[in-house]
Amino acid sequence: MATAKKLTPFEEVNLFFDQAAERLGLAEGRREMLRRPWRELQVQVPVRMDDGHINVYNGFRIQHNGARGPYKGGVRYHPEADQDEVRALAALMTWKTALMNLPFGGAKGGVQVDPTELSNEELNRLTRRYTINIVHLLAPNRDIPAPDMGTNSQTMAWMMDAYGQIHGHSPACVTGKPVEIGGSLGREAATGRGVSYLISQAANDMGMNPDGARIVIQGFGNVGTWTAKLLQEYGCKVVGVSGVQGGVYNSNGLDIAALLEHQNQSGVVPGFAGGDIITNAELLELECDVLVPAAIGNVVTAENAPKLKTKLIVEAANHPLTPEADDILAERGIRVMPDILVNAGGVIVSYFEWTQNLQEFRWEESHVNEELIKIMARAYGEVREKAQTEGITHRQAAFHIGVERVARAVELRGFV
Ligand code: NAD
Repeated sequence: MATAKKLTPFEEVNLFFDQAAERLGLAEGRREMLRRPWRELQVQVPVRMDDGHINVYNGFRIQHNGARGPYKGGVRYHPEADQDEVRALAALMTWKTALMNLPFGGAKGGVQVDPTELSNEELNRLTRRYTINIVHLLAPNRDIPAPDMGTNSQTMAWMMDAYGQIHGHSPACVTGKPVEIGGSLGREAATGRGVSYLISQAANDMGMNPDGARIVIQGFGNVGTWTAKLLQEYGCKVVGVSGVQGGVYNSNGLDIAALLEHQNQSGVVPGFAGGDIITNAELLELECDVLVPAAIGNVVTAENAPKLKTKLIVEAANHPLTPEADDILAERGIRVMPDILVNAGGVIVSYFEWTQNLQEFRWEESHVNEELIKIMARAYGEVREKAQTEGITHRQAAFHIGVERVARAVELRGFV
């Protein structure tokens, strides 16, 4: 799959889609339909800043495919969340919800903004304006946003409120809300819980003992922190962790609770007394058993893939590996667990939140966690079996299953 020209994130995701479509023997018209987003909306998001001046940001909501149910996908606040990246993330949601067999399609939203530079009130105004500008696309049976990078449960509370000002109280219009206003117990930890479960299973299948396994995690936000905490409970040793400003390393294992405390106080990972400072580039090349990219996309490339010293990569972030890196790692015998399988815990518990909201009913946290693991276990079992029986990578197997389900839904519904 080596390529000369630099591909965009959407083109890169479509390389994986095309492989699956080829294997499934889908006709070109059908492929084209499944490859391209169904609908894209770009909006301006003007915000009056606290000092009185106006900033105008770019906002997007891209609905990739809704054949299997309402569109579902997060909203990202990040300076690099441009239209192509949001399109790529929307496509990944389509294949992810299908792989998990959830009754959803795939979508993604984004605003090109650095949320750390805005005050809380500015973020509230930005979120309301963005929501109002895309509100005609949203509804509990049409398109249901959730948090992603740079957004959180507070963002979802503002989105629900803005939506409710037009349509009346509708908690099922977004997921990942605070528990006090209809969020699901277990949602905040869900993605990290799924990631840590996947690591324990995949490591075990490779003959590694999760107890004492050395783990490196890039990204110490929602997904990274929960993954680190839960892995420590499994007995793993988290030796390296980083955030956007850099990371820390301790060959004896980092004290995750103390590191969290340090990050809460200082706002950054470096400077933690219990480890040595390292850069993000150095972190990725640390010797370890499992490398967990849990921050942004395209961090493992053709350049650093030959230098990685890990046995297993578990993609907690969306699209952290370029296709060239994927090929290099396959040749090197480094196993990769793909994003659409690994990080599905968030959308699974979002599904539970949505169903609880629609039924005006509350599940116990233990029930949420049990049902989450059931779905992750089923999906991992299906991917593992397909990879083994067809002699393909876990990513190829995951895309195969997801694409096949969406193609079948399109065919059954008689779209064209
Ligand atoms: P977050 O905003 O809570 O945390 C992001 C982390 O990444 C922070 O520690 C930040 O410092 C770090 N980071 C940002 N830019 C970086 C860079 N250039 N280099 C190194 N580190 C950087 O985000 P999150 O919700 O934890 O999401 C992380 C990843 O997981 C994203 O790819 C997201 O799409 C994916 N994901 C999240 C969820 C979810 O439920 N939150 C679900 C599925 C997938």
